[in-house]
Amino acid sequence: MPSETVQFDDLRQIFTAGDATTEDLVADMSVPLSLTFQLTRSCNFKCVYCSEPPGIRSRTLEEMLEMVDKLAGMQRIIFSGGEPMAYKHFWRVLEHAQGKFSRIVLSTNASFISRDAAARLRDLVHYVDITVDGPRRQHNVIRGNYDKVIRGLSRVAEEGIPLSVICVYMGKNKKVINYIAHTGDIFGAKKVKILTTIPKGYSKNLFEDFTTGEELEELYAYLQEERERNGWTPRITIADWMKIGQGHAILVEPDGRAIASPVWTAADCLEPFADLHNESVEDLWRNFPYKENHMNKYLERTMIVVD
Ligand code: SF4
Repeated sequence: MPSETVQFDDLRQIFTAGDATTEDLVADMSVPLSLTFQLTRSCNFKCVYCSEPPGIRSRTLEEMLEMVDKLAGMQRIIFSGGEPMAYKHFWRVLEHAQGKFSRIVLSTNASFISRDAAARLRDLVHYVDITVDGPRRQHNVIRGNYDKVIRGLSRVAEEGIPLSVICVYMGKNKKVINYIAHTGDIFGAKKVKILTTIPKGYSKNLFEDFTTGEELEELYAYLQEERERNGWTPRITIADWMKIGQGHAILVEPDGRAIASPVWTAADCLEPFADLHNESVEDLWRNFPYKENHMNKYLERTMIVVD
């Protein structure tokens, strides 16, 4: 099992596997390394590029808990949405997940993180992913609620919960990325994750081409220089989908459907391949078509890393 070979490095927020080849790791696996579980597709935000918009109903609480039980033993589960903290049974599911995974992660817009919520999260998650889209004006055009997001971010930081800051590179917005890296540094983020757009959900109306190649190499060189010049501490990763390849992420939607994402050769950039409500996690993994891309991505073997 990869759990013996693959470890999670909390300081760098990365899975490591020494010299083991991806092929050998995959051959030994019977369940995914990491999976994103969408608790709800409802959200109190309306981001212009949202790739996971409303429209899918969550199963009953009992069914959601059963699905979490099926996933038990996996190295990492990421609770997301929609906005996971908007899900009415959020705390119940999070408490139920305790002890079942090596790492429990919350991917949130941060707007529901009150001081009490942050204190509660401290004992229930290993780290939190929060997206910031830029300085106030830029962020508010794309996502809105800048103050709420920064407030939530600072509460997570104050509680000492490890965090990553995520942003989306939309082409030529290097200065915005610079601001995000500063933000990550100020709040003590372990990692700043720069995603590039994918034509999925609302994004498919906004972007036609993938950002790749020379443009991302330039961004890498720029951030490498800026990281040294400014003394930023977070690691910075850049996702070039053309290097990562298709379908690395496994998303379980709130109704149990498992999809591989992003798959740009498929309709809506997603490929359904299993149903966790009716199948086991072993069946899900067996039917997952992108195992090597999955492992390479989470071991950062196909990521651009500013370190
Ligand atoms: S991107 Fe996230 S925060 Fe924004 S609308 Fe979509 S689910 Fe909500």
